[in-house]
Amino acid sequence: MEAARRQDAILHDARTGLHPRALRRAFADHLHLTRAHELTEATPYDRYVALAHAVRDRLVERWAKTQRTYYERDVKRAYYLSAEYLLGRALWSNLQALGIQDTYRAVLRDLGVNLDDLVGVEPDAGLGNGGLGRLAACFLDSAATLALPVTGYGIRYEFGIFEQVIRDGCQVELADEWLRFGNPWEIERPEHVVPVSFGGVTERVPSKHGGFRVIWRPEQQVLGVPFDTPVAGYGSDTVNSLRLWSSRAGQEFDFGLFNAGDYVRAVEQKNQTEVISKVLYPNDNFDAGKELRLRQEYFFVACSIADIIGRFNRTHADFRRLKDKVAIQLNDTHPAIAIAELMRVLMDDHLLPWELAWEQTVGSFGYTNHTLLPEALERWPVALFERLLPRHLEIIYEINRRVLREVRSAFPHDEARVQRMSLIEEGPERRVRMAHLAVVGSHSVNGVARLHSELVRTRLLRDFNELWPERFNNKTNGVTPRRWLSACNPALAALITEKVGAGWVTDLDRLLELEQHADDPDFLDRLATVKLENKRDLARLIQDELSITVDPASIYDVQIKRLHEYKRQLLNALHIVALYLRSKHGEAVTPRTFVFGAKAAPGYRMAKLIIQFIHAVAEVVNADRRQEALRVAFMPNYRVSLAERIIPAADVSEQISTAGMEASGTGNMKLAMNGALTVGTLDGANIEIREAVGPENFFLFGLDADEVEAKRRAGYKGSTAYASDPLLREVIDLIASGFFSPEDRTLFQPLLSALMGIDPYLTLGDFSAYAVCQKEVEVAHADRTGWSRKAALNIARMGMFSSDRTIREYGQEIWKVEPVAIVLDGPQSRI
Ligand SMILES: *Cc1c(COP(=O)(O)O)cnc(C)c1O
Repeated sequence: MEAARRQDAILHDARTGLHPRALRRAFADHLHLTRAHELTEATPYDRYVALAHAVRDRLVERWAKTQRTYYERDVKRAYYLSAEYLLGRALWSNLQALGIQDTYRAVLRDLGVNLDDLVGVEPDAGLGNGGLGRLAACFLDSAATLALPVTGYGIRYEFGIFEQVIRDGCQVELADEWLRFGNPWEIERPEHVVPVSFGGVTERVPSKHGGFRVIWRPEQQVLGVPFDTPVAGYGSDTVNSLRLWSSRAGQEFDFGLFNAGDYVRAVEQKNQTEVISKVLYPNDNFDAGKELRLRQEYFFVACSIADIIGRFNRTHADFRRLKDKVAIQLNDTHPAIAIAELMRVLMDDHLLPWELAWEQTVGSFGYTNHTLLPEALERWPVALFERLLPRHLEIIYEINRRVLREVRSAFPHDEARVQRMSLIEEGPERRVRMAHLAVVGSHSVNGVARLHSELVRTRLLRDFNELWPERFNNKTNGVTPRRWLSACNPALAALITEKVGAGWVTDLDRLLELEQHADDPDFLDRLATVKLENKRDLARLIQDELSITVDPASIYDVQIKRLHEYKRQLLNALHIVALYLRSKHGEAVTPRTFVFGAKAAPGYRMAKLIIQFIHAVAEVVNADRRQEALRVAFMPNYRVSLAERIIPAADVSEQISTAGMEASGTGNMKLAMNGALTVGTLDGANIEIREAVGPENFFLFGLDADEVEAKRRAGYKGSTAYASDPLLREVIDLIASGFFSPEDRTLFQPLLSALMGIDPYLTLGDFSAYAVCQKEVEVAHADRTGWSRKAALNIARMGMFSSDRTIREYGQEIWKVEPVAIVLDGPQSRI
């Protein structure tokens, strides 16, 4: 009996264990059985898929055990609702989580296969635009690593963020066909499909207990098919789920047409519903207000709420316990309709009275605000809502009625306040304010950095803060050190581990121990060598992709982020022109390589023109043989996997947004963690980064948020700054002369007009301070040891910007969820 069990265990281990023999066998089997190829004829992609399957097999048992443990222990769970997940590649993360990256490297080497080549063929999962989607991805990693019972819900876009190519200096968008060759990480679960309704009318019917109940008679039904992706904790046996919904046509829906013989129309309508999860809207910090976008939002929310309530309902009869078992976090307002949806499900499907349903709803939801920019705030036309979601509009009206009653009682005779706080914006077109819905339906409202949370409290949602101050809190963002240090910068990671031990990967505060070495010349030397090697790697990539030769000894000055006017890539570009002029005037300029990475929203004219301008400057600067100091490299198609190659090589991190406009930033954290020194404004998390690393190790410049506000009120115009700074004048005049666009001398005129006028981003207003600050960078860089010391102290003091810290705060302060130990009972445990 015992012998049979052991035999079983050994066989089992041979299939999914972590022993080198099992790993070798698994790879060979998947190549042979899953891809139907022999090693010799397999393409790199076949090999990648085979390896991915072998790795996924090793997660499956942990995954099932994790979910079973949550179920059996009936723990409170948190659900993260996000329209975006900017995941990047999964293979290396999963190898690293299991701790088998070195073993597999050796196993594959024996077979003549280079692991890095396989890692490099995986397409990025780019189901997000920028910081918001990447934050969601870091949070999933941290939650699993901390053994927290967290599930992510989102949309399985068939096309993620577009692929950017540059033609004649202009951005051109190509479809992101990330699923073209299949996705080995996901598991489709058609058996758990969820119907989702749209349109139609509502009816009131008498209910058994007197009163009435509402029945929604929708016009359309769509099916949501879940696809599950495992999210493995680093060095833990927790494997959480990311459940992404894909839309499929409901069968009953086109029957009428089908029977009437209108086959083509039936298929067309089928396409109309399947299009819901087709493509990610490519706007960052901007709401285009498209109907399909509202459909996407309600689609994934309805599927997710049905899933959450279904799971709760299988084990609990009493909805009064819902908020003790379920926490739902809204990543921005994109999923905010979930508040009305949960109310609808509790009242209409489960017949709860309003008060009880509302108490459970508010007790379950938390809302994270990501922006103060007015153009990014979602405000759906009431007419559109009524047509698509008639029942939800009724519920929103009733929520509003009750909230405004509370406002009137707390602040009598203040109708202006009532208007400001209403969920409905009055005007020529009445609109539903989704941020207001999110605030009134949540027990927690947080911003994503200290300054941002303060501005949410005092400016954006001031009235709500006066009514419910206890709801407002801050959760400063973080990034996962597994991807953004351990995986992307192995040489630095090895040096850190040598100095402080391996524990820092899950306890980033341990980096503080590096401070002891900040005056050790040998350590600083090795740190500089690691950076130089990373810079050589990036130089090779730039040479291969752009045919630009850059000098690894030059300062690598990096600005990588979505292209947006408030992020002020233009300020950086103007300064490059200034440096170029200085060098033309025979002044000594420290050699610098400017690296840009940025996608512009396809409909954002100004942003696209700025990309064109950066290319125009690059063309002139790079081609000028009379100056060797400056190089400009715009790297196309900025994405997670490109960020992973640029960040380890950065000396300078450009975080130069107009103060008060960048909610947090997370690129700033990744770069500082990898030893880049920040040139930054007092904006978003820059403020906290500067405090953490020490003001002497951070290059600060520019107006602060209050000064920006004051200047604007005083009628700021860029032309004033132009008049008072000779260098700036020369820069602007050179551009105005058509120097950078000889074939069309007025090409960049729109940029100049914006800058010289009431430019809400105060670009010229900060130019002089920026140029002075950049001179300080040159001076600091001349002292190589001093620079390395600053870099070392940046790395050492970035511990608080681990997303583990952020998620621990969400878990303890908002969700009230506890870590759950996962105990594997079989031979699956680690060796
Ligand atoms: C981190 C990250 C971002 C966010 O960068 P910010 O500088 O904070 O705007 C955007 N895109 C990608 C690919 C990232 O990895």
